[in-house]
Amino acid sequence: MSTVVGQEGNNKQQTVAVIGAGIIGINCALELQSLGYRVTLLDKEGIGLGCSKGNAGHFATEQVFPLAEFSLLWQMPKLLLDPLGPVALSAKHFIKAIPWFIQFFNNMRSTLHDKNKKALQALNKNAISHYIALLKAAEAEHLISLQGSLLVFETNDRTKVELMYQHYLAAGISVKLLDKNQTLELEPNLSGNINYSLYFTDVAHTVDPLALSKTLAEFAMCKGMTFQQTAVTAVTQSQNGVTVLTDEQCLNVDLCVIACGAWSKELLEGLNYHLPIEAERGYSLSLPIPATASAPLSRPVASAERRFIMTPMDKTLRLAGTVEYAGLNAPANYKRAEMLKNNAAFILKTLPDNEEKQENWMGCRPSLPDSLPVICQAPNHDKIFFALGHQHLGLTQGAITGKLIGQLVTGKSPEINLDPFCISRFN
Ligand SMILES: Cc1cc2nc3c(=O)[nH]c(=O)nc-3n(C[C@H](O)[C@H](O)[C@H](O)COP(=O)(O)OP(=O)(O)OC[C@H]3O[C@@H](n4cnc5c(N)ncnc54)[C@H](O)[C@@H]3O)c2cc1C
Repeated sequence: MSTVVGQEGNNKQQTVAVIGAGIIGINCALELQSLGYRVTLLDKEGIGLGCSKGNAGHFATEQVFPLAEFSLLWQMPKLLLDPLGPVALSAKHFIKAIPWFIQFFNNMRSTLHDKNKKALQALNKNAISHYIALLKAAEAEHLISLQGSLLVFETNDRTKVELMYQHYLAAGISVKLLDKNQTLELEPNLSGNINYSLYFTDVAHTVDPLALSKTLAEFAMCKGMTFQQTAVTAVTQSQNGVTVLTDEQCLNVDLCVIACGAWSKELLEGLNYHLPIEAERGYSLSLPIPATASAPLSRPVASAERRFIMTPMDKTLRLAGTVEYAGLNAPANYKRAEMLKNNAAFILKTLPDNEEKQENWMGCRPSLPDSLPVICQAPNHDKIFFALGHQHLGLTQGAITGKLIGQLVTGKSPEINLDPFCISRFN
């Protein structure tokens, strides 16, 4: 049960350290600063430079199905055998990843799968409306585009597409099934290889994930938040508050939020919490759109068969996707970013092509084996909160996570049931 640590109204002098300036930490910091706390945001790299930087920018609220699905079990061997396929597992990392995979497979059981799906549905439900409100307040509505998104199919098998359509409908997602002509009407630059699409009408995308992080952090700074670029090495709680030990100093605060994405394990272990987190490394390739050309797409387009996504961004088309299990520190294999371009050539009539200015990027998705993040008050530390492990949906769930952390910290009843998101499920 949550302990009330900072009731709204008497929190003016309370200080909070938010560790990790990714989209999750930034949203928590902004919310707490808005609630009247004195917030210091800390990051070892800078603002928004971790996994939140080069992602696909898709507010993907339709993704309510946990990744641990039985159907994946049969596809896995084939997926893993292709070194440049959508999923790769490095031989060096294989042994280390086994415990995570065991838990991942366990979460495929239908009772757990359904339970996790319900939790994701609740978390995603108001994820976009919270962003809209935030961006309106920050006068940055240009960073969000409400054009929906498409999931396109090259297959001729309509039954297969129908099945998926029914699956989304049953999960309460706003979706339309479009045939080839309807799809091309919506996105004329898609190639003739596309036969069907699912049109998710209520989703959105950002035209620049890094600008989104920076804008929200600047907005929080205007309200009084401070930022420090420094690595946090340990967090401890005492009767008086929380001590945050960094490379340079010892920061004493009343409360602390840990939002270190894929790097969260060490700080949590220091507090005696087990966190089975894997870095699900993904890649993106940004193709600059010539100043004279119009954007090749109006909305994110994901390929069902090729398992990647293309998002029109400010001056670039960003291709993103793939999953690579290789740990946090292995060097990036940018061939995985390049292969996205080969895939895009099947889906688009024309690709923006200026090889010199293309930018490739690798980011570590913070993934837990049940596809749910951790959003909670630390069970044995009433002054410490966790907001981490948002896997493929951290951008989508940033604003709602900030709201929920604000509700937990102020002792209000959270707007959704947070039991499924508690760290205690692993401890
Ligand atoms: C290819 C790709 C495409 C994606 N597309 C989408 C998408 O379309 N939609 C979506 O919703 N999600 C998407 N994601 C997932 C999304 O990017 C992540 O879930 C999200 O960025 C996680 O945010 P975060 O703030 O938890 O982590 P991060 O952004 O990684 O931030 C964590 C921060 O903590 C800092 N840090 C870590 N340890 C310490 C320490 N000890 N001291 C100080 N600082 C520390 C790091 O420097 C980092 O800045 C995608 C991911 C990838 C890889």
